[in-house]
Amino acid sequence: MKTDICVLCRQHNPLCKSHVIPNSIFRGIFKKASGKAIALSSKEDTPIAYSQESYASRLLCKSCEQKIDLNYEKYSLNVLRGIEGKTSIEEKGVKFKDINTKKIRDFIATIIWRAHHSENDVFRIIKIKPQQQEEMRLAFLINNPLSNSSYKVIMYKLRDSTSNGFSNESFRDYMMTPFIRKNQFGRTSYNSYVITLLGYFFELFIPPVGQTIPNNSFHLCNKTHEYLCPYIEILDIPEIVQVLGRNIEKQKTGLSNISS
Ligand SMILES: [Zn+2]
Repeated sequence: MKTDICVLCRQHNPLCKSHVIPNSIFRGIFKKASGKAIALSSKEDTPIAYSQESYASRLLCKSCEQKIDLNYEKYSLNVLRGIEGKTSIEEKGVKFKDINTKKIRDFIATIIWRAHHSENDVFRIIKIKPQQQEEMRLAFLINNPLSNSSYKVIMYKLRDSTSNGFSNESFRDYMMTPFIRKNQFGRTSYNSYVITLLGYFFELFIPPVGQTIPNNSFHLCNKTHEYLCPYIEILDIPEIVQVLGRNIEKQKTGLSNISS
């Protein structure tokens, strides 16, 4: 096993093959697709192809890997899979009750933070400023919640209300690697980081250092145990529409390695 510096504890240790996006999500997708998950790339010249890629890279030592898994990942995935907490379907979204919102918001932050450190090509666009990276590292190291006033996570439930559109079930097997959006705060611009997981769409806002973003009624506040997760129409997400559109074109022009 390669020995290097763990990005969380900064100790010299053998590093594990860490997954930026939890491996169980990939395992679920690959299993349902009988090992033939389809990868749609946003790049114009990359053909539609089968994929078994789960984007692992050597980032964390064993103990830190377990820390992230136990403190954030396991619980959050259980909530998203309906194993922890209670859910009810409401007109405006899915209502979660009896959940630990702190863990879910910090789980999303751990994904983005790991993506920042990963050398895998698909995460190259994910960059976090040094001060915020360090703030996140220290919070994850001692399992301290990220500041509620600066880091905001909005979680949406994906849906498609068009006729003959995507089913709710199909969204669970749809995974988009993280990407960045540019936002404006007064005259300062700042990034938000977007990811889809298990049929949910998350946006993590990291404001300029020392500033806070005005509260959005829908953010995952770390002081409550419930959350009304609003619906978002998949075709209202420009980045997804762009990737789908580009890949429909590829299909038409034969830029595809998938046998139909
Ligand atoms: Zn470590």
